[in-house]
Amino acid sequence: MFHIGSHLSPSAGWLAMGQTAQAMNASTFQFFTRNPRGSKAKAIDPADAAALVTFLKENGFGPVVAHAPYTINPCSKDERTREFALQTMADDLVRMEHLPGNYYNFHPGSHTGLGAEAGIALIADTLNTILKPEQSTVVLLETMAGKGTEIGGSFEELRAILDRVELTDHMGVCLDTCHVNDAGYDIVNDLDGVLTEFDRVIGLDRLRAIHINDSLNPLGARKDRHARIGEGFIGTEAFGRIINHPALRDLPFVLETPNELDGYAREIALLRGLRKE
Ligand code: FE
Ligand code: FE
Ligand code: ZN
Repeated sequence: MFHIGSHLSPSAGWLAMGQTAQAMNASTFQFFTRNPRGSKAKAIDPADAAALVTFLKENGFGPVVAHAPYTINPCSKDERTREFALQTMADDLVRMEHLPGNYYNFHPGSHTGLGAEAGIALIADTLNTILKPEQSTVVLLETMAGKGTEIGGSFEELRAILDRVELTDHMGVCLDTCHVNDAGYDIVNDLDGVLTEFDRVIGLDRLRAIHINDSLNPLGARKDRHARIGEGFIGTEAFGRIINHPALRDLPFVLETPNELDGYAREIALLRGLRKE
């Protein structure tokens, strides 16, 4: 099964996201657990959540991805900022149990001067505090572009976080194509080499989802500006190889390109056209 979808807004409710995705010929999607810039989370409507669970099952959807607000920073030098990240993520994981067995993706964070090693330790401490054995959600570390003091611009940094997490079965990785390009991994000319490296450092069994975005910037730019598929430095041909690669093809692919719903629907159609069954 080719599970492709896009980022969607949860503002009309959770079931509505499933219906919107289906209308776009998608069979997965991603959504923010709360306002990405703020902290306010709408209360979960358990009936709406249950209706989405049924809808996803009846319509052959793959796993869906919740995305933590991108403003939280579990490895900030500021203690209150770290505490806020911890509370937000802990609350999100409780909420995610209304949608059991799916993914919760987050940006590992920026060490803001503490150094990568200290940052990695703080991220792992946060995960060790919030992860509970009974949770069914798999928490995903997103590969980052490595801009500023961002952690996760190298596979080694993600490995170092995973190595420190006690409930390691609850952890995975989400590969963002724009971010790895900007971090210097050449998925255009050497996709096999990059995936071999991912396997050597992290293990391909950890890879659970792909953010499928073109990049406005060239290889190694450390920028993180997403482009529409085919309108950036990665290019349509490379995306054809990515969605068909044996190590990736069964994972959920989520578009985070600068688009409205009609643009996402066109990109989904484009990528479905490139898929070899
Ligand atoms: Fe992200
Ligand atoms: Fe992403
Ligand atoms: Zn990004």
